[in-house]
Amino acid sequence: MKKVSDQLFPVWWGSRGDQSWGWSWGCCLKWEASEGGQPPGCNCPVWCVLCRGGRQQLWEACQKGRRTFRLPTDMLSLKLPQLFDIHQVPKVFQEDGIISGYRHPRSSALDCILSSFQMTNETLNIWTHFLPTWYFLWRFCSLCTTQNFLTDSYTWPLLVYMLLICLYPFTSSCAHTFSTMSAEARHICYFFDYGALSLYSLGCAISYGSYVMPDCWINGWLHLYFVPMAIGNTLFCTGMSCYSRFVELQFPGKSKVLRTTAFVVPFIFDTLPLFYRVLVSCWGSCGLSEALSNHCYHLMFAFLTCFLFASHLPERLAPGRFDYIGHSHQLFHICAVVGTHFQMEGVLSDMSSRRPWLNSNTAIPSFLETVGALVFGVLLNLAVIGLFAASLPWKPQCSTSSSSSSHSQQSTDEGKED
Ligand SMILES: [Zn+2]
Repeated sequence: MKKVSDQLFPVWWGSRGDQSWGWSWGCCLKWEASEGGQPPGCNCPVWCVLCRGGRQQLWEACQKGRRTFRLPTDMLSLKLPQLFDIHQVPKVFQEDGIISGYRHPRSSALDCILSSFQMTNETLNIWTHFLPTWYFLWRFCSLCTTQNFLTDSYTWPLLVYMLLICLYPFTSSCAHTFSTMSAEARHICYFFDYGALSLYSLGCAISYGSYVMPDCWINGWLHLYFVPMAIGNTLFCTGMSCYSRFVELQFPGKSKVLRTTAFVVPFIFDTLPLFYRVLVSCWGSCGLSEALSNHCYHLMFAFLTCFLFASHLPERLAPGRFDYIGHSHQLFHICAVVGTHFQMEGVLSDMSSRRPWLNSNTAIPSFLETVGALVFGVLLNLAVIGLFAASLPWKPQCSTSSSSSSHSQQSTDEGKED
């Protein structure tokens, strides 16, 4: 008798196996013991994350491999969790242009962790933010040995910024890992992801307000109210991005516009001092300083990040071809991290090169404006996330575990409920 999960999300039986599309990541292929013509030694159920039309090629490879190396049966019967195609998962889990490689929409926490070591359409999303977390942590630890974060208040904006550039990729990595535990868990995971990104924009504002502000704007009204306005922006950003998830299924276009606006507005606000400095530098035809060069690279990657997020390229042009490697979200993660690296270098350059001038022309950053603003921002974001999590249409467990003869109907129904 089949398991409930197989009834709800039946395996893909290889309907595309007769199409010879060559090697490409695409389908989850199952070899059943009853299928004829198996290679000897592959008589256990074998799950292979493979490509369309790859079955025949795997067969040939197995034959050659067995003849050459006499591979033991155990090596060919490695069991990996089942993956699903887009029409087999509820609508809330579906991604534009991603056809295959979906994990089970009711995965356990352990399955989610293990899936990060299996090739799914989320694997590179997880790793492209998990590994950079360690890079930024390493940079942070190095700075701890050279900066006096405890008593030198000039370094506190940097402390807040470094904490947040470690936090946002880590939260994103966790969100991508655990987003397939349930529809509700998925929403909450991404609420936290948006919250961390929103706090990162606050960290940018705190560091820019202290180190990057143009000379002629120092002590002006924008400088004085920069951090309080940035706190208001985090409220707007987290609120708007979380809300966009509620309208995603009914109005995907509107949801995309809301979510993009939610992140673009704080970015433009934070970057105003930088835009001004770059423009003045270009008009004055004086060469870019080391700090400004890094800031310019950061801006280039930030624009690229925004473009990838909004455009869903390249998978929109060739749905199914970039399911595992190369889709826009992975590129978006990579561009965001590379941009953050250049931003960090720019902030560090400005911080050290402008210290004497800033110390003699403006007040030293206070605890309230830096760590206090961060704590206030975290509390505000947690409150917003809690509010949206409480507003989720929670469904009883049985509504997704009841059997259905038609999995596609099941998927559609769940999508409507969400
Ligand atoms: Zn992401």
